[in-house]
Amino acid sequence: MNLFESMGLRSEILEAIQEIGFEKPTPIQEKTVPFLLESDQDMVALAQTGTGKTAAFGLPIIQQIDHTVNSPQALILSPTRELALQIAADLNQFSKNLSKLNVAVLYGGSDIRKQIKDLEKGAQVVVGTPGRTFDLIRRKKLKVQGIKWLVLDEADEMLSMGFKDDLDGILEDTPKEKQTLLFSATMPKEIVTIANKYMTDPHEISVGKKNIGADNVEHHYYLVHAKDRYVALKRIADINPNIYGIIFCRTRAETKDVADKLMKDGYNADALHGDLSQAQRDHVMSRFRTGHLQMLVATDVAARGLDVNDLTHVINYNLPDDPEVYIHRSGRTGRAGKRGISITLIHMREKGKLKDVERKIGKQFAKVAVPSGKEICEKQLFNLIDKMEKVEVNNEQIEPFLPVIYKKLAWLDREELIKHFVSVEFNRFLQYYENAEDINVDETFERESQRGERSNKRGREDRMRGDRGRGRGGNYNYSRFFFSLGKKNGVSKRTIIDLINQNMPGKSVEIGSIEVLKGFSFFEVDQRYEKELTKAFKNARYKGQRVGIELANKKK
Ligand code: AMP
Repeated sequence: MNLFESMGLRSEILEAIQEIGFEKPTPIQEKTVPFLLESDQDMVALAQTGTGKTAAFGLPIIQQIDHTVNSPQALILSPTRELALQIAADLNQFSKNLSKLNVAVLYGGSDIRKQIKDLEKGAQVVVGTPGRTFDLIRRKKLKVQGIKWLVLDEADEMLSMGFKDDLDGILEDTPKEKQTLLFSATMPKEIVTIANKYMTDPHEISVGKKNIGADNVEHHYYLVHAKDRYVALKRIADINPNIYGIIFCRTRAETKDVADKLMKDGYNADALHGDLSQAQRDHVMSRFRTGHLQMLVATDVAARGLDVNDLTHVINYNLPDDPEVYIHRSGRTGRAGKRGISITLIHMREKGKLKDVERKIGKQFAKVAVPSGKEICEKQLFNLIDKMEKVEVNNEQIEPFLPVIYKKLAWLDREELIKHFVSVEFNRFLQYYENAEDINVDETFERESQRGERSNKRGREDRMRGDRGRGRGGNYNYSRFFFSLGKKNGVSKRTIIDLINQNMPGKSVEIGSIEVLKGFSFFEVDQRYEKELTKAFKNARYKGQRVGIELANKKK
């Protein structure tokens, strides 16, 4: 007997959940299902999205619905249309072996007449967003005086979306004798107020595990300068050719911007945000759900209710201010026993914020280096080869073309032929990454510079990239200069970078390696600036002291 079987659920329901593939109850189901089957006490459950809440309240409610009565017995309120539809679909699945359950789904932005018809057909369960539900109650089309169960799903989201008045209105209209079940990921004051006002001595449940997939999620961060965020995102996408994930952005404008850039750069991506019409949102979501879209760039609000189980990645384009938001986002991957990766792009000043999130999730982030061009090319190449090996060859269809093809390619031997085929797909990457810079932030350098002089920071950062770029496959020819001052004059690497900045205003000169010795130093700069720099340093001074530079030996 598995755990579901020991909970007192009917065999028809057990069969249905077995067919769906639920093998054992999630922690919240373990606590909620037996309780709701036996008790009519109110209940408050602290539970995140993805914990299996729908079955937790859905299974016991379905079991207890009176199928002979064709009027609303359960009212389930959810913050978004998508979540409402998902809940209704789940309830239909759970009850598929029972006599037909009438479920009506009510949400705004859609034809109200159709929803009224669904209600008139004798809906036993009503799932709705608060606004439309209250509207239909006021129009006297939805009668909630006979309900036995009221479920407030994602109550905190409903409040933060401004549904407080609608909720109050609906709750006032429901009968006193009913069982109210409130699910919320967080317990702000307003939720406690609602619980106190509308619930009687609620039984409290909290699921320690934030998410059924939480253990399967790895948390990674990439440290980059803010201006390199997009480049880093592209590299992450390129090093994961089979990525299937959501990229969370802070604003609609950023969402649009990132999605537009990705599409322009040839990625299979699209945007989901509040500026889209409902039809456009539906279209994007359906392409994403069916796997036709690999990357969905979305705001938190727009992605609510989008329930996809096998995401490989969640990418936080920025670290969210509220750790709870991070938990919600990362809980969208690593579900249903699969592994998932939650990636966050941060800059130096956000490291403290990252610690807050770590404390909250009880896990540490792993720092991952933004992959180099070479690493990406390697990955893409092997992915391509792998795809080629696994491709299903339709012999019958291809047969008639082969003689001509063989003839045309007869001049190429096996090795050449492979090279040509691979290059068709692969040249794009080779070209793009040919001169790829290292965009990882050098933490030691950044810490030093945060402590010390802050002048001309931007220029330093740009130039430092040159320094590292060279070491990691950047593409600069450098000239090596002798510099007349050294450590004993108080000179550091940063002094030299600042002096170059000051004396070459408005120029972004790439700087290579810098060596500061006791009485003098050496530095490298992009060869193209050799003459200009020599001239610019003619009258250069450091702390009032004249400095001299002179070309050492040229170096490629
Ligand atoms: P929910 O929190 O209800 O949105 O559920 C999150 C996801 O977990 C949904 O895709 C469910 O299908 C899935 N799920 C719920 N309960 C179980 C279970 N007992 N075993 C495996 N998957 C589950």
